[in-house]
Amino acid sequence: MRVLSSELSLKADLHIHSNHSDGRSSVRDILKVAVERKIDVVSITDHDTVGGSLEALEIVREEHLPVIVVPGVEISTAQGHLLAYGITEEVDPGMEMDETARIVRGLGGLTSLAHPFQFYRHGALRLRCFEVVDCVEVFNAKSLRLFNCLSEIFRRRYGKGKTAGSDAHKADFVGYGIITVRIEEVSIEGILKALREGRGYVEGRCAMFEQLWIRYRNQR
Ligand SMILES: [Zn+2]
Ligand SMILES: [Zn+2]
Repeated sequence: MRVLSSELSLKADLHIHSNHSDGRSSVRDILKVAVERKIDVVSITDHDTVGGSLEALEIVREEHLPVIVVPGVEISTAQGHLLAYGITEEVDPGMEMDETARIVRGLGGLTSLAHPFQFYRHGALRLRCFEVVDCVEVFNAKSLRLFNCLSEIFRRRYGKGKTAGSDAHKADFVGYGIITVRIEEVSIEGILKALREGRGYVEGRCAMFEQLWIRYRNQR
């Protein structure tokens, strides 16, 4: 964590899957790697369940780990994947994107369009989807650079906030996608506000080919 005048700067990986959905690592292992890599904020965004987030909140609270957990979930909507932050309630999958976004907002959460344009991984392709969300995921370590660039272009065009994450399905990849948010107040609300206002810069490395290589090597 760095202090910049009256603002704080926090490194966040806001897209991680655990074994509560299709990830291969436990929440405990993910948190261990996040602490080792000095990541200030993580969100466990399992598919259609907040179970991973709830476990992470509990572990961090009990063990006083130096990492902030923003509860999150990646919801499968009829038009593609939608990230929701700041909620601990389950939201049904399969609904229209605008209806889902409305429900998340009603629960006090923030929505972000996950890896748009990445059509082969349930990324939303319809431009209407950009209108109904608060933010756009502009860096996803499992997306091609072209898709990330397009996401940033459309985010600006629609005047939305931004998020980023590794989309790690294994603890080794935690931190491959980072957004450094500039916040005024250290709280979940302070972080969500900064994301909504687009106050942050993204960085990361592509995990796509590395993951494919590991899978290929393990099969041999
Ligand atoms: Zn996804
Ligand atoms: Zn994901």
